[in-house]
Amino acid sequence: MVHCGTATPTPGPYAPSTFLRFDRDGSVRVAGRTLRVFIWKVTEVMFSTRENPIAWKKAAQHSGGLAATDAGSSAASTASANGVRWDLSDLFAGHDDPKIQASLTALDEDAEAFAVRYRGTISVPGGPSPHHLREGIVALEDLYERQWRVSGYAHLRYDEDTRDEASRSLSQKVEDRLTHIGNLLLFFGLEWLEVSDGDAGRIVEDPILAIYRHHLESQRLFRPHRLSEDEEKLVNEKDVTGSSAWARLHTELTSSLTFSVERDGEVRQLNMAQTLALLHDPDRDTRRRGHDALFSKLEEQGPTLTYLYDTLVHDKRTMDRLRKYPDPMALRHLGNEIPSAAVEAMMQAVEGSYPLAQSYFKLKGSMLGLPEMMVYDQYAPLELHSQAMPWGDARDLVLESYRAIDTQFGALATEFFDRKWIDAEPRDGKRGGAYCSYPTPKLHAWILCSYTGTPRDVMTVAHELGHGLHAMLSRKQTLFNYHSTLPLAETASVFGEMVVFDRLVQRETDPRIRLNMLAGKIEDSFATVYRQNVLTRFEQSVFSAREDGRLTSRQLGDLWIAANRAYYGDSVTLTDGYRWGWSYIPHFIHTPFYCYAYVFGQLLVLALYRMYKEEGQSFVPRFTELLARGGSDTPEALLRPLGIDITDASFWQKGLVELEGLVSQAQVLAASLYPRPE
Ligand SMILES: [Zn+2]
Repeated sequence: MVHCGTATPTPGPYAPSTFLRFDRDGSVRVAGRTLRVFIWKVTEVMFSTRENPIAWKKAAQHSGGLAATDAGSSAASTASANGVRWDLSDLFAGHDDPKIQASLTALDEDAEAFAVRYRGTISVPGGPSPHHLREGIVALEDLYERQWRVSGYAHLRYDEDTRDEASRSLSQKVEDRLTHIGNLLLFFGLEWLEVSDGDAGRIVEDPILAIYRHHLESQRLFRPHRLSEDEEKLVNEKDVTGSSAWARLHTELTSSLTFSVERDGEVRQLNMAQTLALLHDPDRDTRRRGHDALFSKLEEQGPTLTYLYDTLVHDKRTMDRLRKYPDPMALRHLGNEIPSAAVEAMMQAVEGSYPLAQSYFKLKGSMLGLPEMMVYDQYAPLELHSQAMPWGDARDLVLESYRAIDTQFGALATEFFDRKWIDAEPRDGKRGGAYCSYPTPKLHAWILCSYTGTPRDVMTVAHELGHGLHAMLSRKQTLFNYHSTLPLAETASVFGEMVVFDRLVQRETDPRIRLNMLAGKIEDSFATVYRQNVLTRFEQSVFSAREDGRLTSRQLGDLWIAANRAYYGDSVTLTDGYRWGWSYIPHFIHTPFYCYAYVFGQLLVLALYRMYKEEGQSFVPRFTELLARGGSDTPEALLRPLGIDITDASFWQKGLVELEGLVSQAQVLAASLYPRPE
């Protein structure tokens, strides 16, 4: 899940933004360690279903749901992208290409030579000379470039057909070798951290290091919060049986749960993904059963889930105190490079707009013909479906949209189709979901998706292509300045998706289908903007309640309901079972306070899109420059040339105005389609 399908092969330990990133298989990397989380499986309710539509459909079919919403299988025969496969031959000729082995051997030797040349030369009294430091960084970038070429190939091949033995063993072999090489290179970053603040401050001022300044500074952000070396070792070792073990237990427990759901007189045992899928079922009774099964089982496990979460909250509070973080969100803000004032301004703006969400939920209730909208009704489909769109038409629409923004965008996007950088064919064994992979600026990007012709699939192509354009535009950056930090990573993808969406809606002549499309867009945006805001407020309230001692299930339920009540108001009725809604969300366990980054990314793009609509073509050069700068500076600094102040609530308001526009379009359409009974 990756928050949104963006993916780069696992970065090395000295790469930018390594502190925390979602890997493409849904695992999360924290400070270089990989935590297996498989986020998409359990967070489908929170995020758009774009993440893994195929697996999702399969899960739903398994459970007997989805009868009326499965546009995929019927569309597949007429509109699928059969034969649209990527060409990886510009990387290597095949899994047995001798160049792979040769690359690994050369990397091994060069990494050894790098270690011999630089070990002990960075952490020296007075710090390294700027010239020497720069030379080391350039050499290191080259080693990572070459590494990621090999690992990129292994990943992409594996994803083509995850059942293929040759790909599997290649992937395993490459991973083992690169771990070894990565360990050889680790010292460089660590030695840079050893340099005193005074010396480091002086060194990064040198003009020769200007392009690496942000990178060098961001590496040191966590330095003031480090413990002594012995303490760090101790913490690392004790975490294995401490906080990491608790987190693992949460994963194992929640993934082993089965939920009894009765359908057609037969009781079935479903896993969590299948049970959550029922909340999207067109049949209300099925949704209710799914909801009841989910929360009654979680309640059964309540004492354990409460104990686990309380322990982890307490552990984080302890570590924050020892590491001298002023508040529970401070560590995350550092990783995101976002000032806390900006986050608070954004969250308050979102809260101020909760009534907009409530008016939409009321509208949805009336469209569904429900006198009372229950919490398990919010994902109910409207059951209005458009015709499947053939792949060629989708390609034309997407290209036309990107061309309309800018000719350069159009030309870059065309290359993806013409030069076979996209694998869109649905196949057995292919990795589900969608992503864009752009390992290094010396390579182009690759896109994986499984296109079946639904409007959502069209959006997915637009989205991933946006990532691809972002990557191609920032190729003039060096590797360490190339990848955007998390809050800006979705900028081009969501922007492109909005442009395509607007075209798609305008083109659609059937008002019912237009309404359906709008509803989908609105609900996806709500899931990213509002819901993630609710989750963050809940976490804040939990950490502040923990100051008074151990948390009880009742307290957690109360805090959860309070955070949700603010959002839903009286537009949606929350059930008793919903008190356990916090208990299975992996972010709370593995990556506290992660969720606000989703709000930031989405709302930022909505606001940028608003600016584009207001300012027209004069906006485009500044937008292009933002993308071209990749990850070369903090989000705040990168956005400043666009006249954006992220600590100003009125900026965030722009994004919310864009959401308002979508809701009011839906209201107008619904008024004509669903006349109120007199
Ligand atoms: Zn994305």
